[in-house]
Amino acid sequence: MTKHSSVTRRDALKLAGGAAALGALGSAIPQIAQAAAPMLGVSRPSIYRFKLGAFEVTNILDGYVQGNGPHPAFGNNQPAEVVQALVQAHGLPATRHENPYVVTLVNTGKELVMFDAGNPKGRMKTAGHLSDLLVTAGYSPAQVDIVVLSHGHPDHIGGLMADGKPIYPNARYVFGATEFDYWNKGENIPEARKPTRDLFMTQAAPLGEKATMIKGNDEIVSGIRAVPAFGHSPGMLAFHIESEGKRLYNWADTANHYIVSIQHPEWHVAFDQDKDMAVEVRKKTFDMVSADKIPVVGFHMPFPSVGWVEKTAAGYRWVPASFQFNL
Ligand SMILES: [Zn+2]
Repeated sequence: MTKHSSVTRRDALKLAGGAAALGALGSAIPQIAQAAAPMLGVSRPSIYRFKLGAFEVTNILDGYVQGNGPHPAFGNNQPAEVVQALVQAHGLPATRHENPYVVTLVNTGKELVMFDAGNPKGRMKTAGHLSDLLVTAGYSPAQVDIVVLSHGHPDHIGGLMADGKPIYPNARYVFGATEFDYWNKGENIPEARKPTRDLFMTQAAPLGEKATMIKGNDEIVSGIRAVPAFGHSPGMLAFHIESEGKRLYNWADTANHYIVSIQHPEWHVAFDQDKDMAVEVRKKTFDMVSADKIPVVGFHMPFPSVGWVEKTAAGYRWVPASFQFNL
């Protein structure tokens, strides 16, 4: 402690004592608040909005899950020590992991387009907050014009309905036809994905009738185009977003760990249904977004989940956005 700060502390104590004495005498002099500030708990940013040409893009943290990892989920075909050494070299704990869930909304000025719907409301304490935070972000669920589903996994379709009713009552839905048919038909579903199929049937399948089914590189609205990114799931879609020459790529679940999956796109990920195809999609995507310097939003990138992929001598790395979008 420096001399200066110790004097300050002594003075503060004297003041506190004096104020207490005056208070006891019933003085009208206002007391200087000396109570320690309360502990408030962690505060995490959960809404981030930036401009992309004439569009506004809002990322919302639906929530997160923490657990053991990243190995064996990430680097599934690698020895645990190799994956642990990589994350430790980048300041992350060897055996603890957090997986965030981040939904992206794009207001084109004509339509409010939401990519994915987050986790089921109320299923987890730490996730399923999208529809509440949407209001905090300045929108109402009734204002969402289009909900685009990248794929049928629980963290993406779980927040479509509550109590059997659509949470976004006025929305039109856009599904990839391959993905919708896969989960809806329910054939060749791996054992571990059976609960995903059950959830799909309650949360997504009922919306199929009023949904637009798209095949591949379809335009969803002017400036937003789907891109097939099959592998993580049988028909996953990614999205090109462009306004006034400014581009953004929403890669959905192409890469889900900002160190492991980006520095080693070739390492297998347990959640990828077709692991080799997912590796190919990662490599192709990283080549494209790094060569063209296109910013990326990713559903499982650390909040606010927007950044760039940079080519390095060894491969690639994730560069989170700082103030680029403010300028
Ligand atoms: Zn996901």
